[in-house]
Amino acid sequence: MKTIFKLAAIVCGVLTMACSKTQTSVGDFATYPEYKKNDLGLTYTPEKSTLRLWAPSAESVTLRVYAEGVGGEALESIAMKKSAKGTWVATLEGDRKGQFYTYQVTTEGKTLAETPGVWNKAVGVNGLRAAIIDLADTNPEGWENDRRIEVENFTDIVIYEMHHRDFSIADNSGITNKGKFLALTEQGTLTPDGLKSGIDHLKELGITHVHILPSYDYGSIDESRLEENKYNWGYDPKNYNAPEGGYSTDPFTPEVRIREMKQMVQALHEAGIGVIMDVVYNHTFVNDGSNFSLTVPGYYYRQDEDGDYSNASGCGNETASERPMVRRYITESVKYWAQEFHIDGFRFDLMAIHDIATMNHLRKELDKISPSIFVYGEGWMAGGSPLPGELQASKHNGKQFPRIAVFSDDVRDGLRGEWMSAGEGGFATGKVTNRQKESIKFGVVGATEHPQVDYEAVNYSSAPYANNPTEVINYVSCHDDECLRDKIDAVAKDATPEQRKRMDLLAQTVVMTSQGVPFIFCGEELYRTKQHIRNTYNQPDEINRIDWSHKKTHADVFAYYKGLIQMRRSHPAFRMATTEQVAANLKFIDSPEGTVMYTLNGEAVGDEWKEILVIYNGNRGGVDMVFPQGEWMLVCEDGRMQLDAPRSFTGGPFYVHGTSAIIAYR
Ligand code: CA
Repeated sequence: MKTIFKLAAIVCGVLTMACSKTQTSVGDFATYPEYKKNDLGLTYTPEKSTLRLWAPSAESVTLRVYAEGVGGEALESIAMKKSAKGTWVATLEGDRKGQFYTYQVTTEGKTLAETPGVWNKAVGVNGLRAAIIDLADTNPEGWENDRRIEVENFTDIVIYEMHHRDFSIADNSGITNKGKFLALTEQGTLTPDGLKSGIDHLKELGITHVHILPSYDYGSIDESRLEENKYNWGYDPKNYNAPEGGYSTDPFTPEVRIREMKQMVQALHEAGIGVIMDVVYNHTFVNDGSNFSLTVPGYYYRQDEDGDYSNASGCGNETASERPMVRRYITESVKYWAQEFHIDGFRFDLMAIHDIATMNHLRKELDKISPSIFVYGEGWMAGGSPLPGELQASKHNGKQFPRIAVFSDDVRDGLRGEWMSAGEGGFATGKVTNRQKESIKFGVVGATEHPQVDYEAVNYSSAPYANNPTEVINYVSCHDDECLRDKIDAVAKDATPEQRKRMDLLAQTVVMTSQGVPFIFCGEELYRTKQHIRNTYNQPDEINRIDWSHKKTHADVFAYYKGLIQMRRSHPAFRMATTEQVAANLKFIDSPEGTVMYTLNGEAVGDEWKEILVIYNGNRGGVDMVFPQGEWMLVCEDGRMQLDAPRSFTGGPFYVHGTSAIIAYR
């Protein structure tokens, strides 16, 4: 989600029920006991099913059992028994697989609406009731052999951010299971021009990890009316530990969405690609009606001075990660996805809403499962928060949560123009002031401490925020705002179509050659457009879908992106893991206005390219420069990647074409 209030309000405000007072009269949250055992929610065996709910403020809790996920009368209503540390327990004898249940909490004499609870892992249609299943039944064939993608350094990762519908929904995708988890399991799919699409396309492009937009159960799509083909990004969480039903082939049968998501993970792993989940623990779809509110009113959210929901998310509420059972909830939830679904990474929406201690705790717990699990997030929030600034997991505090990366809006906006100035361009579109230049250099050094960067001149940050380049995401576009092509069209109206395409290529060259972790938005490699609509969270498929005919029409763009990724993955000089390495081996060289020039000492980091020279020319016109003497091989020049047929050059005077990059080695 976005950096800003305004957008967040647009994105979430229309989806969210009216804000109302939290029920802070239920007592002092600090007195609520912490329950530390791992049996919250359902414990299933064929002999019995046990349900445990943490609801310390409840006066009574009724468990209702149903035959269906929606509708019908309860088969049983059972008074749950008060148990240890604020929990309530009930046991259902016999094999209850296939049945559904809800909890109904009474607190302060008031009986709240039914809820599937917060610890459920399987739900019926629209996530209204929790389901009794045996998780072992959801494993696809061969799941026991499925392995997470191991990475040596996080800088080895190349992220591709994707919405399920964007990727596969178009008629010309060649994919059968359009808009579903299963789309990513289909091998051998082709565009009408006979080019690879789907998962084969991803392998061809060479990315290492797919970041899937929210895929937990969210609230904005009616799963019982999927034929209406409604679209939403899904930043409106309902059940955090169950997959979204709209992406399954059958949202009514609880096991199906779980099995199909696992099939997706398995297929990507077999293709050598990791899966990163976009997680949105910072707020819920609704306030008083959320599963959090219907279980322990008020506890999971922060309150402002008047006892109202505070709103750092811009969506009507914000969660309170600093409270022990909220911290525990978020941590156990990501652990569950990592362990049960073999997830390779997590992208935290509006991460600054979470406190630093929670992020560090969660990183430590994930490391116990695998240090290859990548964690990153938006180091900002979308409104004011009662959480003091020094406790926020913001990018400015980034050094206090090691091994967790933050998005660099500094390099993003340095390249494309500031997000709040719609008509304003950046370095890649020809706006080449010192501020742009230093913001690009900030990206090149991976937001680390480097003696040749003037941090005071950088876009939004006056200091490096990464301990190491493994802790920053360099990017120029994501689902938010205009996609890259549309942004360039908007700010470079005076440029020719050919020049605009060169701006796109230059911008991504900076992303892919910079130290740090590169990230591209799905479809940018096909020169996608969103029809110049800025925020498309609920726009129809016609706006959001990838048009696969572009793979032929814009084959030049695809070839360039593919070449960039291939080069990065083959050459460790672009993927240094420590600040010390970058400071020692990356040297900026004085260069004409509107250009950035630097060398990489490849030899020092085991690269077969002993020395690498990189030049970015943001000027629309060509620039005369001087190459150091030597036998150089040019792999990128004048808007072309030529890895397989580099041109040799002996140094001396050199003409760098407008809006282009030079990459050479010797
Ligand atoms: Ca849903």
